[in-house]
Amino acid sequence: MIQVGINGYGTIGKRVADAVAKQPDMEVLGVAKTRPNFEASGAIEKGFDLYAAIEERKPRFEEAGIDIAGDVEELVEASDIIVDACPSGIGADNAEMYQEYETPALLQGGEDADVVDSSFNARANYDTVEGDDLVRVVSCNTTGLSRLIAPLREEYGVEKVRATLVRRGGDPAQTDRGPINDILPNPVTLPSHHGPDVNTIFPDLAIDTLGLKVPATLMHMHSINVTLESEADAEEVRDLLDQQDRTFVIPEWLGLDGAGAIKELAQDAGRPRADIWENCIWGESITVEDNDLYLFQAIHQESDVVPENIDAIRAVLGTESQEASIETTNEAMGLDGSLAPTRQAE
Ligand code: NAD
Repeated sequence: MIQVGINGYGTIGKRVADAVAKQPDMEVLGVAKTRPNFEASGAIEKGFDLYAAIEERKPRFEEAGIDIAGDVEELVEASDIIVDACPSGIGADNAEMYQEYETPALLQGGEDADVVDSSFNARANYDTVEGDDLVRVVSCNTTGLSRLIAPLREEYGVEKVRATLVRRGGDPAQTDRGPINDILPNPVTLPSHHGPDVNTIFPDLAIDTLGLKVPATLMHMHSINVTLESEADAEEVRDLLDQQDRTFVIPEWLGLDGAGAIKELAQDAGRPRADIWENCIWGESITVEDNDLYLFQAIHQESDVVPENIDAIRAVLGTESQEASIETTNEAMGLDGSLAPTRQAE
């Protein structure tokens, strides 16, 4: 069993911990937190050992009656691999500690690409990270774009990607984020930083991205135009995307007219935390004009990177092939087409 330590137990960390616990070849050795709160007590209730991320704050856990198993350094030393899901920038600060204990670590998309040895997306570059010390699982938006671009490149070739990313202002629990009543070009300068981030996965891809922020917490929405290198038919593209493991092509009859309805579907389907691990691509939006492909996709920012973290663990440690890992991850998590009832019935 691969012993996984998770440093930073917030939005991403707690989801990764749950996903690790479901895998047949991994165990959660422990999770590290900076302060006692509902997530700390939730970790204890799930049976995860809790480690103090900041030594001086240990008394706070004791005062709250929460048992601490040790300091984060002990967790790092004992783990086969660390998933660092601390807020942006802190993962980079922690990198020295991981290197000191010679424990490979996965950082998240909020970290700069130049802090790590490599950037990772399971569909696009699984085989390139084995043996690396520090690997970055790319952001929610870059993950969503990479999953879409990889099969299109293989099947048709891609001349240029142009993507407009309408981003949620914050996650539901982020009370300090916004806007609450505005529509922001963000960043206002073009192109946005997202394109170069996609280039950490596909270095030679021509891509321009534009970003906006809107008063929503549910999901991001991507408006996509891909100029393909060869002729394509909308129906064929739809089939290609439908066949991928982590893209859900929304059939028209489901009546999902936006991110709110997708979240409702995820709740009805019994998904944990109403998570949607797949790209959600509106089938009717898939259109081809000459060599230009257009579509809309929604990305659940809080969860699409979770299966990617699980695959990155196996990819870095070299324990499974790409295909076997993706299959195991999906099966263990329940990422099985259950959002697409037609596919189940087939
Ligand atoms: P979060 O704020 O929800 O969780 C971070 C957790 O780390 C919190 O519990 C915080 O208390 C804890 N923490 C702070 N300092 C720490 C330290 N020194 N040691 C250990 N723990 C510490 O953040 P998040 O949304 O889970 O984001 C984590 C990373 O994942 C960031 O790089 C972010 O960019 C990336 N990411 C976030 C999203 C998203 O939409 N939430 C999506 C993809 C990637």
